[in-house]
Amino acid sequence: MASFDTRTVHAGRQDLRKLGVHAPPIDLSTTYPITGLEEARASIDRMMEGAEPDENPIYSRLHNPTVARFEAGIAQLEEAEAAVGFASGMAAMTACLLAARQRGERVVAVRPMYGGTDGLLSSGLLGVEVDWADAESVGAAIGPQTSLVIVETPANPTLQLVDIEHVVAQAGDVPVLVDSTFATPVLQQPLRHGAAMVLHSGTKFIGGHGDVIAGVVATSEAFARELRVVRSLTGGILHPRAAYDLHRGLQTLSLRVHKAQEGARLLAGRLHEHRAVGSVHYPGFQACDPKGLVGRQMAGPGSMLAFELVGGFDAALRVMEAVELITPAVSLGSTDTLIQHPAGLTHRKVDAEVRASHGITDGFLRLSVGVEDAEDLWQELGGILDGLSRA
Ligand SMILES: *Cc1c(COP(=O)(O)O)cnc(C)c1O
Repeated sequence: MASFDTRTVHAGRQDLRKLGVHAPPIDLSTTYPITGLEEARASIDRMMEGAEPDENPIYSRLHNPTVARFEAGIAQLEEAEAAVGFASGMAAMTACLLAARQRGERVVAVRPMYGGTDGLLSSGLLGVEVDWADAESVGAAIGPQTSLVIVETPANPTLQLVDIEHVVAQAGDVPVLVDSTFATPVLQQPLRHGAAMVLHSGTKFIGGHGDVIAGVVATSEAFARELRVVRSLTGGILHPRAAYDLHRGLQTLSLRVHKAQEGARLLAGRLHEHRAVGSVHYPGFQACDPKGLVGRQMAGPGSMLAFELVGGFDAALRVMEAVELITPAVSLGSTDTLIQHPAGLTHRKVDAEVRASHGITDGFLRLSVGVEDAEDLWQELGGILDGLSRA
């Protein structure tokens, strides 16, 4: 198998030369002319079971060749048998929960995690009940109805790292789903550590330019079939134009992730030394990675970090209002640097006590470092923090 960086450039493109093209074609057909009714019936039968079609995709909610190419690319990067694309990260999570629900009505989930996922699980909307756990109590939380264990590492927004192998060992026969959005396939491949499924919000690093909403799950062909069935039935499909953009994003994914990581290392170090900052959460710091997972589970600490301001909410508000080069906005993994206030925005709906127990205070800010020159970013951020210290 070619090295990872080589695969980022070529994954899912193996058939292009045969087609006589250099860029993947975007297939916008919603329906596909039927050449023979027998073949069409066989194709539908296959797709009802979640398999790929023989020849004719029949209808684009069931299968789309442009989406399938992106999926093949992700599968190759995650070293998975298959991947399934969705309209958003939340549509991907919904499909995983609906598929799991057929095996049991409870899931175990490790907090903290993305506010949207926390909200979906807490809502019981899908007929799935959640048992919350921490990374050490997953085994104890599992019961006869548990059909899935869900963890996020690094976790949103605290950058807490979860030892995937330790969770998998506790889960026994129950499949483990890892939301690896923060790590990207560049820094972490959860299936290697025994996870059954890895989920990405493609909206973040994979798209990488803040202009596509998408989700994807890489897994075994057996689980992929369950997810394709749910996707066809519920319709949370990825649009082929979005799939094209995501597939293009893969070509620069490794470059972007490594460049942004360099910047994050520099900013994390400077923030750590600044008087206006109480604590910095960054997987590159030993204090944030007591189990030494960076190096073993993750190839690097990544480009997401969070920090708590000594001045609490007022200081956080000042920073959010003062930034110019840095964009005050939710989301992450874009080429440009974004800063946001989890307690007020992405994790606003998470129970205040739960937030507090994870240190998501009113002075807590999350930074998604982009690929700009990190010295320029520090000139702005450091300047604002100097102002806070003087005040
Ligand atoms: C953004 C995000 C999601 C949800 O993805 P959408 O594409 O916004 O639906 C899920 N998990 C994590 C870790 C995220 O950051």
